[in-house]
Amino acid sequence: PSPARGSPATRELTATEPKDQQLMVALRIRPLSDAELEEGATPIAHKVGDQMVVLMDPGEDPEDTLRTHRSREKTFIFDTVFDQHASQEDVYCATTQHLVEGILSGYNATVFAYGPSGAGKTYTMLGLDAEPGIYLRTLADLFQAMEETSDNMDYSVSMSYLEIYNEVIRDLLNPSSGFLELREDSRGSIQIAGITEVSTSNAQEIMQLLTKGNRQRTQEPTATNRTSSRSHAVLQVTVRQWSRGSELAEAVRVGRLFMVDLAGSERASQTQNQGKRMKEGAHINRSLLALGNCINALSEKSGSRAQYVNFRDSKLTRLLKDALGGNSRTVMIAHISPASTHFEESRTTLLYAYRAKNIKTRVKRNLLSVSYHIAQYTDVISALRREIERL
Ligand code: ADP
Ligand code: MG
Repeated sequence: PSPARGSPATRELTATEPKDQQLMVALRIRPLSDAELEEGATPIAHKVGDQMVVLMDPGEDPEDTLRTHRSREKTFIFDTVFDQHASQEDVYCATTQHLVEGILSGYNATVFAYGPSGAGKTYTMLGLDAEPGIYLRTLADLFQAMEETSDNMDYSVSMSYLEIYNEVIRDLLNPSSGFLELREDSRGSIQIAGITEVSTSNAQEIMQLLTKGNRQRTQEPTATNRTSSRSHAVLQVTVRQWSRGSELAEAVRVGRLFMVDLAGSERASQTQNQGKRMKEGAHINRSLLALGNCINALSEKSGSRAQYVNFRDSKLTRLLKDALGGNSRTVMIAHISPASTHFEESRTTLLYAYRAKNIKTRVKRNLLSVSYHIAQYTDVISALRREIERL
């Protein structure tokens, strides 16, 4: 039976307004790949309505078509769920587009692509020439918005591109500069000492620098035989603005945008890594864990269970301290493959992303889950009806 895609029962339950949220956690399920189809994988992650995903344990009895054994079927709720039908534009518009306005109002914004290697992070962020991703779409909208307000305001835009590999920061626009350190300036905001900051006036120029920087990324194959990124790639775009005719030397507003293609989240043990790979895995896990903790703490901030946010646990979270706290908006897009062969890493990814936000929607989850199962039975009942009519 096919899942209830956007059935009326599930649709009316979704009413979150992304613009008001300080933190949004989205999930993107990519299409099954040819390689996965060839190895006989079946889809086990199903989007239900706009906000839920059901993950089936492929260890279940395949003969059990009515799925009477549901004990190992897991449901997760996110602010938005995208499946293989979602276009790059759909994903951009529902997650990141609203950040542009904030950046021009002097807010910081961060977009993360999270998930195991091969799950679609780079596709979402960078995309293809014909299907550009979040980097280009965000930058294009940002420059467009500046153009539209250029009668009253002067802008200056600059970019940096860096990677964090094994808790060390490298400048991807100037790799020969070695390891860079984080410093706190007199106002307590975090700076990367010696990083290249390029002034730029259009999105295309940033994309060219990004492509050039990508060739410098630390990227090596692991035992799973996929090219996996072992480093976090951080694109930092700073927008400074002045009122037209203002004599001030200091910018009136500074908005900073971070767009981060995180290192693959697969666990070191799963890739059977040893030695150097093992150490990388430990560093990656540590920074992703620190990130999850910080985001979780932020999502609690507005609630009653406010807690101390420890940014110091990793380079990644230290660097993003200003962007994650205070006047900022954060979007995390978690990625999974729908394939039965990736069950375990999909499960851990969903758990991580779900916990990051800790969405308090138990009631909604139960309602969505019930409507999902009703839809499954409706399918079975109609199939039986058709059988009967044929007799
Ligand atoms: P990651 O960066 O997480 O390691 P990639 O973005 O490189 O993964 O995706 C792995 C492969 O799957 C690439 O060939 C990519 O083009 C393809 N892919 C990922 N997401 C999608 C999608 N939503 N639609 C079509 N192809 C996708
Ligand atoms: Mg990638």
